[in-house]
Amino acid sequence: MKIDFNKYADGLVPAIVQDFNTGKVLMLGFMNPEALAKTEQTGKVTFFSRSKQRLWTKGEESGHFLELKSLAVDCDHDTLLVKAHPRGPVCHTGADTCWGETNQPDNFLLYLEEIIRLRRQVAPQDSYVASLFAKGINKIAQKVGEEAVELVIEAKDDNDELFLGEAADLLFHYLLLLNAKGFNLQNVLDILQKRHTK
Ligand code: AMP
Ligand code: ZN
Ligand code: ZN
Ligand code: ZN
Repeated sequence: MKIDFNKYADGLVPAIVQDFNTGKVLMLGFMNPEALAKTEQTGKVTFFSRSKQRLWTKGEESGHFLELKSLAVDCDHDTLLVKAHPRGPVCHTGADTCWGETNQPDNFLLYLEEIIRLRRQVAPQDSYVASLFAKGINKIAQKVGEEAVELVIEAKDDNDELFLGEAADLLFHYLLLLNAKGFNLQNVLDILQKRHTK
């Protein structure tokens, strides 16, 4: 990776940190060759802190390390894009990102998958999702079948609201089944994408 550390007078290059999973921009830091080397060696994103005037591993006090997933340099070799998995809120204010955003995917389906993962762990009497999971995969698969049949039935009418409602039911239970089988939507999208390029 060719990086032009001499482009700016202070010998630092900006490093934009993006969440590997959600795509959200988390923070901006600066790296010199030493910070970059330490980042690659330890797998924990390390900057040169201009205020501390030393190498700074993000999370060294808070424990909210940025686990390195990938590094790339831009078109003219003067800015880094660091994709990482944050172990906690990234900003020192406690916010998920330094721009005060929550670190949730823009794609609502991906966000919904996260909610499903969380709801699985709740007591069955407190959560529809948990209660279905408690009944097992066969029950969840059966629900997908039922919702599919309901959608087919509504397709024959012209009540848009009922049709869309059943379409939503099917999609939701489809996500539950994928999750119950240990998969997620991305696994399915990967297959569709591969087929598309054929
Ligand atoms: P940490 O690296 O998370 O242990 O935080 C140590 C110190 O680094 C904090 O007290 C802040 O001064 C600073 N700091 C932490 N996170 C950020 C950030 N995202 N941007 C700038 N400075 C930060
Ligand atoms: Zn550039
Ligand atoms: Zn911040
Ligand atoms: Zn239904």
